[in-house]
Amino acid sequence: MKRESRRERAEREARAADAILLIERLEQLGVRWPVKVHENRRVLVSFTDRSGLRIHRGFAYASDRTLGAVIAFVSPGRRHSTRKRSEAEVVSFPVENYVRLKPQRKRRTRERPEDRKLLNELRELHARFNDEHFEGKLAPVQFRISNRMRTRLGELSVDSRTDEVIEISVSRRHLQRDPWDEVRHTVLHEMIHQWQAENGTALDHGPTFRAKAGEIGVIPRANRAVDRLRPAS
Ligand SMILES: [Zn+2]
Repeated sequence: MKRESRRERAEREARAADAILLIERLEQLGVRWPVKVHENRRVLVSFTDRSGLRIHRGFAYASDRTLGAVIAFVSPGRRHSTRKRSEAEVVSFPVENYVRLKPQRKRRTRERPEDRKLLNELRELHARFNDEHFEGKLAPVQFRISNRMRTRLGELSVDSRTDEVIEISVSRRHLQRDPWDEVRHTVLHEMIHQWQAENGTALDHGPTFRAKAGEIGVIPRANRAVDRLRPAS
């Protein structure tokens, strides 16, 4: 087990303290949903009936007025104009002034020269599908070709602490054996999980996934599971 450095420990404690403070303040303002505090800058605030309110840690330092705007923004049944006004207030809150941004985690890339062409094709596929099916809203993502994945075809890695998407892995076996059309299908499938992660909804194959897959035209495979969902640590 790796020992935690003094700085890491201080950061972990600060993170926990911010989360407790923020949850308490929201409860004082009347919030009764489950609240999860995260550090994903792309999705400051999100809400679903199932997972409740997910909110960026920086809001621990926001005024009551701003927290009120958060609540108005996510509360069901508010008027469109109210929601729009609240949204503007929420997104203008500068979380980065309060929470030091973590440098993007760089995984050691063992990119083989002969894989470069393939990785480029995967990235191009991602960019095209992003425009075609996600209004270009998904963040660009790194791809990795996995030698270890045997039964799974693809996998989306998400930082379990910040919910940031790290990368999409595609099985080398899959790339070597299966027609390109099936690879495209795998990439789209993982992109739906990316879309879930970036919108703060649960990473699963539940109704949200199926609705999006239906809209895009991804057919759920009956004969083998595309992936197993497991957050990366
Ligand atoms: Zn999946």
